[in-house]
Amino acid sequence: SRKDTEQYYTLFDPVLEAHAEADKRLIDDLKHAINNKDIDLYYQPVVDANSKAVLGVEALARWHHPEQGLIMPIKFIELAEKNNLIGQLGEVVLEKACQQLAQWRAQGIDIFMAVNLSPIQFNDPQLISKIKYYIDYYDIPAHRLEIEVTESALLESNHATGHMLEELINLGVRLAIDDFGTGYCSLSYLKNMPAHKLKIDKSFVDELELDKTTTAITRSVISLARELNITVTAEGVEKESQMKWLQEQQCDQFQGYLFSRPLPSDKFCLWYKQHNAT
Ligand code: C2E
Ligand code: CA
Ligand code: CA
Ligand code: CA
Repeated sequence: SRKDTEQYYTLFDPVLEAHAEADKRLIDDLKHAINNKDIDLYYQPVVDANSKAVLGVEALARWHHPEQGLIMPIKFIELAEKNNLIGQLGEVVLEKACQQLAQWRAQGIDIFMAVNLSPIQFNDPQLISKIKYYIDYYDIPAHRLEIEVTESALLESNHATGHMLEELINLGVRLAIDDFGTGYCSLSYLKNMPAHKLKIDKSFVDELELDKTTTAITRSVISLARELNITVTAEGVEKESQMKWLQEQQCDQFQGYLFSRPLPSDKFCLWYKQHNAT
């Protein structure tokens, strides 16, 4: 039985034992890092599809581990979600993002800041008042903050989450549906979503012009979004040819290595000034 198997492993498998031990240490380190606000944000530019002007950035979490070096979110977000740390981690990210946005605004850099929220963060009834607190404290126009929630999280969302999203929008904050296309969302559902933006997932962008179905879906998503007045951002744009095709379909915004990788704040400032000068 499953129970016996578990017991067997916990008692006798030295390899799994070592993994569990390493995981436990990593969780402790992560807890420590979050408590010390030692999670860094990198910023990936989002550009206008036609003018290529920088419209905003997406804040992406990075963890500089004292021994293991740079750890990517794919390795620690899930760990945080599974160990009841994502609420606190999410707050650190929100605060740092708002603080950075305020700092840039003071330097005359007027762009939006997009922040990723884990669906688990919606279990916190204080979430919206915390977001409001940071907006007020750092004196940010609410419409310059964009919250990204994945399509799959929205599909599974309950009544309470729906209500919180409404409150968020009433604050003036923008809502983006992240990883659009991966959640097998029916297009008609967009009509009932109060979203301002949808972000076409990289897996779709990768297959443009290579896969007929993907190409057709992407074309109709962009056209429907336009009719519904929803902004479309294409994620993971790496090739000139992808950009050209997306421009032809009148996609609004681009994000991807073709323009820039995520950058630490000082590097972003340099990139921003160079990019805007050309
Ligand atoms: P995401 O929200 O879909 O973010 C986009 C990811 O695609 C980022 O990976 C970005 O570096 C990568 N990317 C952007 N353009 C390109 C490209 O042209 N080519 C390729 N190969 N990759 C590209 P990253 O930073 O590793 O983040 C991975 C995921 O971790 C994010 O996916 C997001 O789901 C999650 N994440 C990151 N930061 C946070 C956070 O603060 N909170 C939460 N809840 N999740 C976060
Ligand atoms: Ca995102
Ligand atoms: Ca995404
Ligand atoms: Ca993604």
